[in-house]
Amino acid sequence: MCEFCLKHGEGKKWYLQANNYSDELLSDIRRRRMIEEFFTNSDQITRGIENLNRLDKTPKFIKSMIARIITGRQKKIHFGQVIPIEEVEKIFGFVASIARVACFCRHFTLKQEKRYCYGVSLSPDGGRLAEIFRGLDNSFLTGPDLSGMESLSKEEALSAFREHEREGLCHTVWTFQSPFIGGICNCDRSDCLAMRCTVTQSIPVMFRAEFIAEVDPDLCVGCRQCMRVCQFGAIVYSAANKKVAIDHRRCYGCGICRSMCKENAIRLNDRNKVPAVANLW
Ligand code: SF4
Ligand code: SF4
Repeated sequence: MCEFCLKHGEGKKWYLQANNYSDELLSDIRRRRMIEEFFTNSDQITRGIENLNRLDKTPKFIKSMIARIITGRQKKIHFGQVIPIEEVEKIFGFVASIARVACFCRHFTLKQEKRYCYGVSLSPDGGRLAEIFRGLDNSFLTGPDLSGMESLSKEEALSAFREHEREGLCHTVWTFQSPFIGGICNCDRSDCLAMRCTVTQSIPVMFRAEFIAEVDPDLCVGCRQCMRVCQFGAIVYSAANKKVAIDHRRCYGCGICRSMCKENAIRLNDRNKVPAVANLW
């Protein structure tokens, strides 16, 4: 269990606790302001991109100090966790509304509208979260309807997530002033700032999944399709036996490799049952 499960999930998976999605948490004015600021303060994200680029030249020991400060702060404000698609399905099983919106990161990094982010709520009409969104001056939320939010059924949303998975995108759940969970995103390390921060700069702003991937060497034919999509560089190919294996210390347990494997050679195991990485988040 990650530290959020202990803190916000009473020892169970925190992102499967319905109360972490509740409208009551949005009655906190500071949380509402934080969300408004998050989606409207474009200077903040521009500065974030510049700072990330600058970190490339920062000495290692300074970077590790910066990492501790940023990770600690983000855990309170906006922190994520990688989740495989079966966990997304469980969340879609208890929320009452799902709205697809444009990705804030890609609006800045690609200068394109990419509808990779999903707001979730326990209220059928999107509740207070939708209310906040509708009140924002968020020009990046262009799209099929006036408010920029596209309401999807659970089946439609799940099928969209399967499509994102085929694109090699990794599912992540996000807090807005923890523990309130407002959305599930589909990330890659080239365009998503949180993934760049976590993977490229080693400044974690998301936990690994509660799972870890394993390859069955008897089924693997060494096609390397799984390697192509792993955002975390966790799959290694052995030229000697012409098969791949998972580097558990790098694996985030997203399961994207599994969906690319036509031989069904990859499965996800419970992280807690793999002693070497049970406490690696
Ligand atoms: S996609 Fe499957 S068969 Fe191909 S290398 Fe990866 S694990 Fe092996
Ligand atoms: S090895 Fe598979 S499950 Fe692990 S991080 Fe890479 S794509 Fe995700």
